[in-house]
Amino acid sequence: MKDAIVKVSKTTILKLTTDEDSRIEKTIDKFTEGMDYASTVVHANQKPMGAIKLQKLTYAHLRSEIGLKSQMSCNVARQTAGAYKTLQAQIRKGETYWQLLKFAPTNIKFSYGRDFSINHDEISITTLDGRQKYGIMNYRYAEQFFDGSWKYQASELVKHKDGNYYFHLVCEKEIGEPDITQASNFMGIDVGINHLAVTFTTNGRRKFFTGGEIKNIRNIYSKQRKRLQEKDTRSATRVLKHQSGREKRFMRDVNHVISRQVIESAIEDNVSVIGLEDLTGIRKRTEVRKKQRYKHNSWAFRELQTFIEYKAHEVGIAVIYIDPRYTSQTCPTCLHISRNNRNGRSFLCEVCDYALNADLVGAMNIEARTRAFRHDLEVQGLVVDSPDETISSETSLKPLPTGRGN
Ligand SMILES: [Zn+2]
Repeated sequence: MKDAIVKVSKTTILKLTTDEDSRIEKTIDKFTEGMDYASTVVHANQKPMGAIKLQKLTYAHLRSEIGLKSQMSCNVARQTAGAYKTLQAQIRKGETYWQLLKFAPTNIKFSYGRDFSINHDEISITTLDGRQKYGIMNYRYAEQFFDGSWKYQASELVKHKDGNYYFHLVCEKEIGEPDITQASNFMGIDVGINHLAVTFTTNGRRKFFTGGEIKNIRNIYSKQRKRLQEKDTRSATRVLKHQSGREKRFMRDVNHVISRQVIESAIEDNVSVIGLEDLTGIRKRTEVRKKQRYKHNSWAFRELQTFIEYKAHEVGIAVIYIDPRYTSQTCPTCLHISRNNRNGRSFLCEVCDYALNADLVGAMNIEARTRAFRHDLEVQGLVVDSPDETISSETSLKPLPTGRGN
């Protein structure tokens, strides 16, 4: 098995240097309109259909009624067919039901050589106003993908929530079996109230980001809030509203600073994948519910995670959200899980006596899960920068499904 050849697929995210661009906007809008149209065709069929069949059924309409170019029309069919295949797989797992998929106007898929070409500082794509060239940011990490050894696959232009355009370039090459143990340096990040962020990397580096006086300032805000809420007068309500805006702006500034420091530290340590807890998912276990309620209630935690994610993408570091269950109760040494392991800010394993700062234990467990998740992908022959983008490359497109049954 040592000499096995595996196909490596990587998605690298490149930021375009252009701001809001009307040609891109128009193309994304029309492309999405095309997908929504193709979606109604599959939906009416009452089960998924192959891309070729869907292309035959939709091509004329996409070209003449919606005004898409030839290659775009083919991509619309392929992408929509893929989305329904994923939907079907989710239905089989009991996760959702048959429904009309609606697509958000955020992505367009391009085919290499047909409607996009790229070099290390420029991308050329077909828009509805003809071929256009856009600059891309020169990241050091991305240079490896332009050394001639990679083949480019169908890739996507995505408008991220930060309002900027990013090209998710899918690159492939065949190599000898990768050495997974050497693969990467991972970073687990625990966000919380004691320390805004605690990081732990595979090579053992740990950092605490406290944000100085923040906890005190937030306490002052929270006391003021309580006082005002007790008053319950109209003027108190007005002051409350005003103050809440101020607190939000204050925390946003803090989160920008902390996320920047975290990413600087990740770059310094050569981290390639960052793991964060998924605080949004709905889980059945009460243990998480409690922890989630606490973290969930604070928009500030999620905002910090979002900032970290954006800044990570900008420098080519992938971000994975992991299952947050028991990250604060699991012993990093013997893996014993118990609520009793944790006592406030300190962690003491009731089995092996391992003792450490509780937030750091959280970060260690998050790092371990991030590494495990990546490992699972790699043994399948995948090396991915952003797993959710590559595992189901046909559906990375847009968040599935928006839950609109029909
Ligand atoms: Zn233990």
